[in-house]
Amino acid sequence: KLSKRLKKVATYVPEGALFADIGTDHAYLPCYICLHDEKARAIAGEVNEGPFNSAVETVHLYGLSDSIEVRLGNGLEVVENEEVNQLVIAGMGGALIRSILEDGISKLNAVNRIVVQPNIDARTIRKWFLIHGFTVTNEAILEENGHIYEIIVADRGENRSPYDASLVDQQLLFGPLLMKNRTATFYQKWKHEHEKLQTVINQMDKAKVKDIQKINQFEKELKWMKEVLS
Ligand code: SAM
Repeated sequence: KLSKRLKKVATYVPEGALFADIGTDHAYLPCYICLHDEKARAIAGEVNEGPFNSAVETVHLYGLSDSIEVRLGNGLEVVENEEVNQLVIAGMGGALIRSILEDGISKLNAVNRIVVQPNIDARTIRKWFLIHGFTVTNEAILEENGHIYEIIVADRGENRSPYDASLVDQQLLFGPLLMKNRTATFYQKWKHEHEKLQTVINQMDKAKVKDIQKINQFEKELKWMKEVLS
């Protein structure tokens, strides 16, 4: 049974998609999508041999070899330019997802939608989208097994920016659409982040050598969190 997290990710992959799932692990996501949508086609990329073999196995198990091709390789190296129209990268840190996008930018010419689910630091991906002409069109936040996950959907072009000039920095941190909706899970996440950051600041204040610039930045973010929680 597919996790609630990946099921939600799947809802953002359009019908009849021609997509790549990078860091596919067991290939559960592309298998789920292709089982429910016989027109969908996927390239499942994995850099590690263990998960690569698991992915090959799952695809065989479901008889999906005509719909899904599993490829071994780093990031977007496994896809040719213009081979896919959608891209999914889920279950990794934001910095890693961003570097996969950055290193593979020449493969994205035909990609009109990117769906990411960063485990941490969604902000760095939102910044990448902003710089590279992808507009955040949907965001979700959900809790599963004690973890809170964020999903970001970005579409190429789309001239309606979700950002407000005076609020961009806050919106990049909280998510422009998540910040508008402020669900119970959103509050839960930022209440926890607020506590964590307060602890970090307290420790930094006690240190002999102080990084004043960093403390100031964190103080500013702490204030944003207080505001968003109020
Ligand atoms: N995407 C699945 C999910 O969301 O459940 C699996 C997430 S799993 C925690 C991360 C997977 O990404 C691992 O199988 C790992 O081997 C793979 N991975 C890490 N860096 C990668 C890279 N640069 N290129 C391709 N796969 C990568």
